[in-house]
Amino acid sequence: MGDSARVLVVGGGVIGSGLAWALAERGVDGVVVVDLDLAGVYASSELNAGGARATWWQPVNVESCRLTLEFFQAHAEELGFRRRGYLWLYADADLFARALEKRGLQNAAGLGVEALSRDDVAARFPILDQNLDEIVGATFSPRDGLVNPNAVRAWYRARAEALGVEFRNRHYVAGVSTARVVGGAATLRRVVALEVVEVARGDPFDESGLVGGILTRHRVPREAVVGESRIACETVVNCLGAWSPIFSAKIGVRDVTEPVRRQISLVDVRESDLPPGVDLAQLGMIVDASGLYFHPEGAHVLAGYSIPEEPPGFDFGYDGDAFFETHVWPRLAHRASAFDRCRHVRGWAGLYDVTPDRSGIAGRVAGFTNFFEARSFTGRGVMQSFAVARAMAALVATGRFEDVDLTPLARDRFDDPARWVTEDLHI
Ligand SMILES: Cc1cc2nc3c(=O)[nH]c(=O)nc-3n(C[C@H](O)[C@H](O)[C@H](O)COP(=O)(O)OP(=O)(O)OC[C@H]3O[C@@H](n4cnc5c(N)ncnc54)[C@H](O)[C@@H]3O)c2cc1C
Repeated sequence: MGDSARVLVVGGGVIGSGLAWALAERGVDGVVVVDLDLAGVYASSELNAGGARATWWQPVNVESCRLTLEFFQAHAEELGFRRRGYLWLYADADLFARALEKRGLQNAAGLGVEALSRDDVAARFPILDQNLDEIVGATFSPRDGLVNPNAVRAWYRARAEALGVEFRNRHYVAGVSTARVVGGAATLRRVVALEVVEVARGDPFDESGLVGGILTRHRVPREAVVGESRIACETVVNCLGAWSPIFSAKIGVRDVTEPVRRQISLVDVRESDLPPGVDLAQLGMIVDASGLYFHPEGAHVLAGYSIPEEPPGFDFGYDGDAFFETHVWPRLAHRASAFDRCRHVRGWAGLYDVTPDRSGIAGRVAGFTNFFEARSFTGRGVMQSFAVARAMAALVATGRFEDVDLTPLARDRFDDPARWVTEDLHI
């Protein structure tokens, strides 16, 4: 495509790659994806927990995740999808009552969510053998499960490339040119071109810290620049995940989201410490009433916890033993004696881009004729990716949503709290 693109997708994470594939599948040509680091060393798509559930509290999230899970199930082997369910424990009676009420919406969508008593939990999940008297009830959603997020992103990208999409690696979007659209009643702008800096190739794990430095400080050091170009475009889609607000600022659009660090630990449990009959590998996602979640991850257990007072910022530091010992281990051991003597293996940190209502943003950006966004899916980007990709491809190609209607996720909902798509049950 030389230095022009029909559709320029900024960001090649699971959302940008999925959108590129969906556009190409519709027959849209001239799709170019630019990303600083397609390996995704700091991309949320590579650093997440691999949970996949459709059991949300808002119809648009239920439907888009349900469709994405169907897609995962259809390609279960390639995408590492295991339909093992989500068990969600409640210690708060009001929250549990609301969860039971939301089963109506979820089960109307065919999700088959069960309500469990604490005795049911004890009988069906013998790993949870501590302090169950605190639990007022639980839900179990058998159609939810676990997926390999890296495989999902790779699937979208491989198919997009096979259909002619160009992915430009080590390309950092540093600037945006816009122009006023002449004519019409309202003042509209359009994106004319992106200014892109080509960055020197580096080691695949970014041991030099070049990519991490750029993604934390938002500028490319002069010595790392190997080329500069201007890509003219007919349409631009912001798929920058946690970096979306940086792009919004470049284009003069007020943003309402912020990047927030989320940490994950890998833990080892001795087989001899497991209660009789427990096969860890067969478990799905367990979300404890304390907010801690865990599931089997290869030979380990993956456990995550979102610190409520975590300040916003581009922070990728994993707090190591301090995080594990303060936040993870006490919660695991409080609910399951198997974790009394567990071993902290390692961990990592990635970013959520958090919206005020904890739902993602998708649609055309108000005030622009050719600027779209699909971003800020907080902790839901992988499990929503297929439906978002399909819906956004339809919007970009035809000007309207088709089979999946993402209208509720338009960013201008934040102007009116009555239109917020609030999700209270997030991890
Ligand atoms: C710890 C953690 C656990 C999570 N758990 C789950 C889960 O269980 N299930 C789930 O569905 N979701 C989960 N999520 C959320 C999910 O990972 C994200 O919603 C999703 O990956 C977002 O994908 P994305 O493509 O929008 O962004 P990303 O994957 O972050 O991609 C953005 C890309 O933009 C690139 N970039 C940034 N700035 C520029 C620039 N100026 N120029 C060019 N390129 C640039 C980056 O290199 C990156 O590749 C979790 C997230 C975290 C951090």
